[in-house]
Amino acid sequence: MLKKLFQSLRSPKRRTQQLRSTPEVLNSSQHSLQRAQFSRYAVNIVERLQNAGYQAYLVGGCVRDMLLNITPKDFDVATSATPEQVRAEFRNARIIGRRFKLVHIHFGREIIEVATFRANHPQNDEEEDSNQSSRNESGRILRDNVYGTLEEDAQRRDFTINALYYDPVSERILDYANGVHDIRNRLLRLIGDPQQRYQEDPVRMLRAVRFAAKLDFGIEKHTAAPIRDLAPMLREIPAARLFEEVLKLFLSGNACDTFEMLVDLELFDPLFPASAEALEHNPTYTHTLISEALRNTDLRIKQGKPVTPAFLFAALLWPALPARVLRLQDRGMPPIPAMQEAAHELIAEQCQRIAIPKRFTMPIREIWDMQERLPRRSGKRADMLLDNPRFRAGYDFLLLRESAGEQTHGLGEWWTDYQDANDSGRRDMIRDLSNNKDDGTGTAPRKRRRTSSSKRKRGTGADE
Ligand code: ATP
Ligand code: MG
Repeated sequence: MLKKLFQSLRSPKRRTQQLRSTPEVLNSSQHSLQRAQFSRYAVNIVERLQNAGYQAYLVGGCVRDMLLNITPKDFDVATSATPEQVRAEFRNARIIGRRFKLVHIHFGREIIEVATFRANHPQNDEEEDSNQSSRNESGRILRDNVYGTLEEDAQRRDFTINALYYDPVSERILDYANGVHDIRNRLLRLIGDPQQRYQEDPVRMLRAVRFAAKLDFGIEKHTAAPIRDLAPMLREIPAARLFEEVLKLFLSGNACDTFEMLVDLELFDPLFPASAEALEHNPTYTHTLISEALRNTDLRIKQGKPVTPAFLFAALLWPALPARVLRLQDRGMPPIPAMQEAAHELIAEQCQRIAIPKRFTMPIREIWDMQERLPRRSGKRADMLLDNPRFRAGYDFLLLRESAGEQTHGLGEWWTDYQDANDSGRRDMIRDLSNNKDDGTGTAPRKRRRTSSSKRKRGTGADE
């Protein structure tokens, strides 16, 4: 009791978004949502659960996005029914997850996720089972598997705009946290005390950036304020979870804005420490290369073209390579092995932070290796490279490097022309190379290699 009193004295008036005990209820004339806009399967699930006597709502991203006229990625349902009770109602339902159970209800290719209302774990360990603490010393929630009431479910959600519940039967929205107000004002605001909510789950800092970029929302000032101080907490997050989050950050179609915001809020450093260092030492080149890569990614996503995380990671990490290559060369390692070793080290280090799966790290290496091979075109080399399944990515990467100011003496243009040329044109181009003596035959006079490494140094050294 005394402890609580002191706690409340120490943090007297936090300007936080507290929850109402009863929600604001918006009926159909007070909002723009219509039942027919939602997945009929999701609506059907809600109806059936309600008919069986449970509470059930559409919730989270789908309600938020619909209010903003954005097509939702998926439709989530929250209910008072336990996973077993949900499964008992639907033949096509499968319980997934061991630690925290969810139900997936399948309708052909569409899957609706149904989650039982959850509660936050209590803040103080004295309030719970003593030796089974659900938080670590810094307040991070380690377990999050307690069922709760609808109010508690709203409370444990991250942002006010993500805590809206839509009942498609009565067509009413339940708003516990003034989320509709924040949607109207295009503001991202954490529910509760921001510092505490980030300490519970530092990934919420990344989610703030993701939603701000995706929705083009501002981050409310108390929600933004603690981020720079708490950013290092991301180092505690399991690398596998960060991989998922980083993919969402950069493959959402708003990667450029996301990157700027991550850098500004000092979140980029704990995610990509080596690249952040490159950004500091060599800002113009690093920033241009990464932004160009992300701009291409955003464009491809908007055009519905596929994007590979490997290309993205290859670009994010590339500016960190030269410093390492030079360090190894200074220790007497020849250029090519130094490049190989630096690539290996860099990826291994990065994987400590963000667990990039092997199926992506291999192509990253191939894209980088290709950069060493693209200048060596004589004889049959050019045609062999062209047949390499990684050629396209390697060539695109070369153009990316050029767009960031790396000097390659027209190598990108040469490859563009070579791809366009017919057989005899190609033979001429190869012949011109050997006449030119500057073809980088790959028998690689040592002098040339040194030149190309100093070229790279020059290209990336603009800010030094
Ligand atoms: P998206 O359109 O990107 O899927 P979303 O809001 O649906 O956005 P999800 O990651 O699918 O985001 O999460 C679904 C809901 O679960 C969120 O709207 C939010 O209410 C809640 N949620 C997810 N992650 C967290 C978290 N780390 N802390 C608190 N609440 C969370
Ligand atoms: Mg979602």
